[in-house]
Amino acid sequence: MEETYADVILPLATPAMTYAVPEALRGEIAEGTAVVVQFGKRKFYTGVVCRLHDRRPAAGEVKPIVRPVGEGPLALPVQLKLWQWLSSYYMCPAGMVLRAALPARFKADGFTQDETYTPPTETWLGLDGRIDGEEKLHAALDSLSRCAGQRRALSEFIARADIPRAGFSALLPRKGFPASPAVLRALCERGLLRQVACETRPDDSPVSFARLPELTPAQRQARERIEALFAEKDVVLLHGVTGSGKTEIYIRLMAEALERGRNVLYMLPEIALTAQLIERMRKYFGDAVTVYHSRLSDGRRAEVYRSLLRSRGGRIVLGVRSSVLLPLPELSLVIVDEEHETSFKQTDSAPRYHGRDTAVVLASLCGAKTLLGSATPSVESYFNAATGKYGLVALGERYGGASLPQVVVSDTLRARRRGEVCGHFNKALLDRIGETLDAGRQAILFQNRRGFSPYVECGDCGWTGSCPDCNVSLTYHKSDGTLRCHYCGYRMPLPACCPSCGAGNIRARGFGTEKIEEELAAFFPEATVGRLDADTTRSNRAYGRIVGAFERGETDILIGTQMITKGFDFGGVSLVGILNADNMLNFPDFRAGERAFQIMAQVGGRAGRRSERGTVVIQTTQPDHPVIVQARDSDYEAMVRSQLAERKAFFYPPYCRLIAVVFRHRDKALLYRAAERFGRGARETFGRRLLGPEPPPVDRIRGRYLIRFILKIEKENSFAAAKKLLQEHFDRLHALSEFRPVEWTVDVDAQ
Ligand code: ADP
Ligand code: ZN
Ligand code: ZN
Repeated sequence: MEETYADVILPLATPAMTYAVPEALRGEIAEGTAVVVQFGKRKFYTGVVCRLHDRRPAAGEVKPIVRPVGEGPLALPVQLKLWQWLSSYYMCPAGMVLRAALPARFKADGFTQDETYTPPTETWLGLDGRIDGEEKLHAALDSLSRCAGQRRALSEFIARADIPRAGFSALLPRKGFPASPAVLRALCERGLLRQVACETRPDDSPVSFARLPELTPAQRQARERIEALFAEKDVVLLHGVTGSGKTEIYIRLMAEALERGRNVLYMLPEIALTAQLIERMRKYFGDAVTVYHSRLSDGRRAEVYRSLLRSRGGRIVLGVRSSVLLPLPELSLVIVDEEHETSFKQTDSAPRYHGRDTAVVLASLCGAKTLLGSATPSVESYFNAATGKYGLVALGERYGGASLPQVVVSDTLRARRRGEVCGHFNKALLDRIGETLDAGRQAILFQNRRGFSPYVECGDCGWTGSCPDCNVSLTYHKSDGTLRCHYCGYRMPLPACCPSCGAGNIRARGFGTEKIEEELAAFFPEATVGRLDADTTRSNRAYGRIVGAFERGETDILIGTQMITKGFDFGGVSLVGILNADNMLNFPDFRAGERAFQIMAQVGGRAGRRSERGTVVIQTTQPDHPVIVQARDSDYEAMVRSQLAERKAFFYPPYCRLIAVVFRHRDKALLYRAAERFGRGARETFGRRLLGPEPPPVDRIRGRYLIRFILKIEKENSFAAAKKLLQEHFDRLHALSEFRPVEWTVDVDAQ
């Protein structure tokens, strides 16, 4: 008789391992089943079966599977395929993909908790089954003419559940429904309402939502174009200016998928997943919306994972990058909003995957469609649309006739010559802030550095504070008088006198959000100022407080880092100031121009989102820089054209594919020897496609030195073949015992 084998992915940095399936367990083990297996001499792990077959491994002893865990598979067939793709595309062991894909409580020391897992229950409210028509509904309300409280509760239920439009069996979650337990009990006793307890939304309940907004003619046309394009393309790019109502279009498409009983994945970058947006989605889709982000507890994540695994449609997952790894049966639509955001790429640990690109692959595995949306699409996506790979739909007008803001470029050097600079503000910007405040309107100021000043310097000897463990200068935080490393978290008090020469002449250089806040307080003492950056938003609550105060108009000016660029829709903002465009333009990266344009357009897009026209002031020393001119003219197309020309000339994506390889070690000499050895071998294979070794801009972090290679592969050549060759060079290096302690990371499609 044939033997049966299972390839099992373990939560370790290894590929899948083959185990034997004991005769007695054959019926219980399928692809996707979680199983306990022995690994090494003594260790037991829980892994997931990714493949069943009958091929005995050529060498070594094959251990049997100990036992299956849990009821039914822990991963869907599509997930297994996606894991396989992630592992090979991003050059990452399958085990690392599994670790990223499963919520923490499933992995580590196995799935043991799983056996005692009791699904959470929720209580739902619905009309009693006997009330199945409008007449009976009216009769029910009339019967309560003497019980005002119960009558109010029932009316409220009817309004919220949108009866009869949503059908008479529509349900609402009990939680959050404004009626006391006593009132609800009385209504149930009268046979008017019923309470149902179930694990999640009961599968047969129709999804009910508030009436959807009417689309404007332009929005309707965009939506029809998207649907028409989906007939021939799997991916459509929606290029809609800020405030054009992209979200309204998403809502329509989602509602339609839900009505067909399908599931939707709506992905956003972490910082764009704001309370404001979640609220907007809940208003329409109630508890059909499941939110998934990095601040959820492990328990909550496991709960979401479980409930989606068994879902039969009618759900919207509103999540960040990692939500693409969730089990999503019945998936018919994936929306990736702010698709240009580089934070969709995971960079700090394997798998170093791009959430947007992975979403496109997931959708194609599921036969679903992907909609990418942005006001400033990434050059790559735009290129894919221009070359016909993706469909393209443009939405060029803002909702409600609001026009795009007027952009004013303020030349900092000229202002300085004329003595029109105060602190870090040009007079042009200060004047406009004054006018905005006088008009009772609000302003947003953007500075992409937090802290008070990015470095401190001794005025006598030139000493600068730098981190003992990283090769970066320490940022001065005035609020607590510390110098801090933004790479490793190291902190020290600001020294009173220079550690090098002893002089008491230490000066803060450059400026961050804290410094701007201090200067503003001096210029506009009567204005209320809020600050939104990583330092002021350590907790969700603090974040909500700052944003809420601004939204209610209690704050006049909001200063912020990148955090303020996304997902904010405030009516009162008529001025946006970009304090220093130069450090974005001068960033040493081939995407700097694109990024600078995107940030300026996105921050600027917060201005004048309602009736009157907003203003954006950009302070720069390079007013003629092409990207500044493009931002001034809101000319996205010009930006893409010039960026594409540059990338073609210098052979960068989208004209090639790019892999970054970083080696790390404490011992600099050993590291450089390893890099030299690797470079010599790899260059024989790749020739001039391999650049480096070169130290990255920050070449020491947490005590370890870094050195980097970049590999550029032509689009015409097989990417898979190149990665296989690259892997062989890693294996060859690893085979040399001297270099074994040197760590390396591979970042495919590095940002
Ligand atoms: P985008 O996502 O393109 O930046 P939003 O969808 O956030 O734009 O829309 C901007 C603002 O205009 C929001 O306050 C939104 O509620 C409003 N809006 C857009 N389209 C409509 C519509 N058809 N009906 C009502 N309000 C709309
Ligand atoms: Zn000194
Ligand atoms: Zn450090």
